[in-house]
Amino acid sequence: MSTISNDKYEAVIGLEVHAQLLTKTKAFAAVSPAYGGAPNTQVTPLCLGHPGTLPVLNENLVRYTVKMGLATNCKIAEKSIFARKNYFYPDLPKGYQISQYETPICYDGEIEIELDEYTKRIGITRIHMEEDAGKSIHDQDPYHTLVDLNRAGTPLIEIVSEPDLRTPQEAYAYLKKIRQIVQYLEVCDGNMEEGSLRCDANVSIRKRGDKTLGTRTELKNMNSFRNVERALTYEIERQIELVESGGEVVQKTLLWDPAKLVTRQMRSKEEAHDYRYFPEPDLPPVIVSDKLREEIRSELPELPNVRLERFVNELGLNRDEATILTENRNLADYFEESLSKLDEPKAIANVMLTEVLRVLNDQSITIEEFTITKDQLAGLISLKLEDKINSSAMQTIFNEMLSSDEAPEKLAEKMNLIQVSDSGFVEPIIDEVIKANPDEVARYKEGKTALIGFFIGQVMKKSQGKANPKQVREIISSKLESS
Ligand code: ADP
Ligand code: MG
Repeated sequence: MSTISNDKYEAVIGLEVHAQLLTKTKAFAAVSPAYGGAPNTQVTPLCLGHPGTLPVLNENLVRYTVKMGLATNCKIAEKSIFARKNYFYPDLPKGYQISQYETPICYDGEIEIELDEYTKRIGITRIHMEEDAGKSIHDQDPYHTLVDLNRAGTPLIEIVSEPDLRTPQEAYAYLKKIRQIVQYLEVCDGNMEEGSLRCDANVSIRKRGDKTLGTRTELKNMNSFRNVERALTYEIERQIELVESGGEVVQKTLLWDPAKLVTRQMRSKEEAHDYRYFPEPDLPPVIVSDKLREEIRSELPELPNVRLERFVNELGLNRDEATILTENRNLADYFEESLSKLDEPKAIANVMLTEVLRVLNDQSITIEEFTITKDQLAGLISLKLEDKINSSAMQTIFNEMLSSDEAPEKLAEKMNLIQVSDSGFVEPIIDEVIKANPDEVARYKEGKTALIGFFIGQVMKKSQGKANPKQVREIISSKLESS
């Protein structure tokens, strides 16, 4: 993918992210919004838009949204109201979506994003509560469009950023940070591919140094992090080429086509409907008292950036290690729980970043599905630190533990991998190896001391991995030098 390096223009990007909340019931009805039920089985008369039904606010919708607001340094409105966003669509039987308009519950926040070379603060304009619409299904019946209203009324938050992002890479980092925060807070599962996190991107270009904003286009339908980055890269180049060839950017909504890697026009914003927003008469204002706000603040978990700093400053990990380990809250929890069994942050981090992550990758599983227990992992690392096993034995036992719940000591004994640091055990083997390789001995003495690795390897092989390589090295070099 090309990166944009244009000295004349800069891009301006603002993201609108929708996150589906993990509440047990819908925003205004006591029915589960969980994904995957048979069509129209998770509906109440309210979800169907029947006349005479009234919405009842789910308290957790408010709590989860305020959590997200506090975690992104937003101000929390003491009083905010719901609004009706009116439009007609078959998957919206009541003819309006309940949202917030002029008074969002959270506003004026910011988060810090990290890129390879720098960090940057991105303003959060607002976070508001709203409900999702149902789903129209166009590909199951050749003559009809079908409607599934299970999703109607699913609680969402919309997080709107300031136009502070300047590159597709910054947009990518911002989105990852948002996902990390919702996952840490456990308010949303953050899965973009399944649609529980959705992102629309607004993008314009301007001459470097200009202060006013250019005309923007809005990109939709990017259902992965990579697609957001790719679509923005494509669209910024398109706008630059257009302007360079004398054209003008027209405000419109574009759909990203992930197969063809291009954006396509959807509808022009000028023709977009007027939503006729007005205050929702069926719901009272939402009041968040100081007491409630502070109660929610006290329930916040340690946030990812704070945890990362603690891993660096208190546990002595380097920044890269800490970044990877804190990326996912469950991974960081696994690490810290192992640490509570064996206080060796460096050694545990090391095994997690190599062996554990390798297995998660290879098997496409998450840390929750990983079968080695924290006790086993800590036990294995202590065997190594106590010099009872060498590195290759450690690897062998690790692999064995993937399908065994036995303790690592047991496995080490069973597999005959306990390291023998008794010189009476290794010396005869070393003598044998020296005797069997006179040419290498001669070359070693002529100065090819790198051959020490060869001798160690031979001894390790003959000892079936049980010799202590450090000890072997010492004995071999003293023997070769004195012989
Ligand atoms: P809308 O009413 O169309 O949703 P908003 O004013 O709410 O528009 O802005 C939506 C998003 O677009 C925000 O993230 C904002 O930062 C971004 N945005 C607004 N103007 C521009 C622009 N000229 N270029 C790029 N992004 C913009
Ligand atoms: Mg908007």
